[in-house]
Formats: sequence, structure tokens, C-alpha cells
Amino acid sequence: MSAREGQDARPAKEPRAAARPAVCARFDDLGLDDPARTYRLGIMGGTFDPVHIGHLACAEQARDELGLDGVVFIPAGVPVYKKDQRVTPAAQRLEMCRLAVAGNPAFDVSSIEVDRAGDTYTVDTLRQLRAHYPGNVELWFITGADAVGSIVKWRDSAQIAHLAKLVAVTRPGWPISEETRHALRERSDFQVTFLEVTGMAVSSSDLRARVAAGRTIRYLTKGSVIRYIESHRLYRNDEREGEGA
Ligand code: NAP
Repeated sequence: MSAREGQDARPAKEPRAAARPAVCARFDDLGLDDPARTYRLGIMGGTFDPVHIGHLACAEQARDELGLDGVVFIPAGVPVYKKDQRVTPAAQRLEMCRLAVAGNPAFDVSSIEVDRAGDTYTVDTLRQLRAHYPGNVELWFITGADAVGSIVKWRDSAQIAHLAKLVAVTRPGWPISEETRHALRERSDFQVTFLEVTGMAVSSSDLRARVAAGRTIRYLTKGSVIRYIESHRLYRNDEREGEGA
């Protein structure tokens, strides 16, 4: 019996362990209220180094346009394609996400990728989520179109297609490349929704460069995140000394 079938068999209002959330405190019980209803959970997958207003606008737009019941930000623990780059420690990226979503009842953050040992593979995350949620909860994996374009090369990508629907986010003026479209067309098993997000004109790399150059990032991310970056001296040139690339 699959994990999903097992979850489907669970009584409707079974309370979950109160101590430590399995996914995240706000959405751990999603799907239990009404087993006859289909719920939609957005999964914001990314490195979030740092999280910025583009990510927040993206999650909000996806929530609105796709009728999501909630969106959970899941920062990658060890991003597999970034091993040759310097990436801020996972615990700090996680904390910045927590600060960014604070106060929005439709958003939450999960540490499942940060807590998991080893490299971060999306298929492992989606399997973990699928095993947790009952079958009436759909998973919508939201990330940048560039990343989605390379999904065919990800570990167990055929499984990913069965575990989640994909939302590929583009920046204005950066249409999906023909290469990406071709790669996705080749794989008709993927269900992909494209979403152009105005706020995604902002990028994490731009924020890092601005901080390194001593320039302002005010209004480009939440004030609480800016204070965290300042107090932990993240992205400063002195922080990056000795960096290979
Ligand atoms: P990335 O290469 O840093 O990001 C690609 C583009 O997408 C960037 O322009 C980025 O903008 C944007 N982006 C990232 N997350 C986004 C989000 N949630 N919504 C909208 N735009 C987003 O990609 P990444 O952040 O490392 O990885 C993205 C996701 O794919 C992560 O969950 C990662 O674990 C997963 N992934 C899995 C595998 C695998 O399983 N083998 C391989 C690669 C990636 P910003 O830089 O401004 O965020």
C-alpha cells in the first residue's frame, strides 16, 4: 500500500502531534477538515539567499491565481546545483524566510529540507509531503522557470511529475526560453502552469551584490530581513573574502 493510500484511510479529524510540526505548524492539518474537499498547498522551493519581495509577491500571486489554501516556503538545505558556489548557511536562510512570512496567515515556512541530511533533492521533499498529507491535498511546487526547465535532469524527475503540479515563475522581460519550453514539451507527464510575476524583477543575486557594494536594499525585502542581514553581516565583501568564484 502506498503512503498516499495509507493517509487516505486516516479518520478525518485525527489530531496530529502537537510538539514539533511534521511540515509546518500552520498547515500540518491541511485536508483534515473536509475529506470531501480538494485542498491545494503551494510549495515555494528555492535557495532564498536571501528571500525578497519578489518571492513574497510570487507566493501571493500564485495563491490568488491558483486558489491555493496556503503556501509553505521550503528553503533548500544543500542545493545540489550550487556546490561550487558560496551559499549562506541553511539555518540563516530559513530564519530569514520565517521573518519574511511572519504575520501572513496564508504563508508558513518548513525546515524539512534543512533538517534532512545530505544533498537536497526535490523528489525527497515531495515524497515526504505526499506521505504526510491525505490524498485530498494537491501539491503545487512553485519555483523559477529556469529551475523548472532543468527539472528533466533532476533526480527521479518522472516521480516528481506524479507527486506535484509545477508552477514556473518568470520575471517580466524574461520570457521562457525556447530550450526550456522544448524540454518541458518533451515531457508531457509534467503539468506546468507558467506565472509571470511583476515583483520578480528583484533577484537574490541583485540583493547580495547591493549589500556587498554597500548600497541600499530597503523595500526590496522585508525590514526584519534587512535587520537580520545587517546584524549577521551577511553578503558583505569581508564575508565573501576567500570565496573561490
Ligand atoms: P536558482 O537556480 O537559484 O533559481 C533559478 C531562478 O528561479 C532564479 O532566477 C531565482 O530567483 C528563481 N527562483 C528561485 N526560487 C523561486 C521561487 N520559489 N519562486 C520564484 N522564483 C524563484 O534555483 P534554486 O533556488 O537553487 O532551486 C529552486 C528549487 O528547485 C529549489 O527548491 C531546489 O531544491 C530545486 N532543485 C532541485 C533539484 C533536484 O532535485 N535535483 C535541482 C535543482 C533545483 P532568485 O535568485 O531571486 O530566487
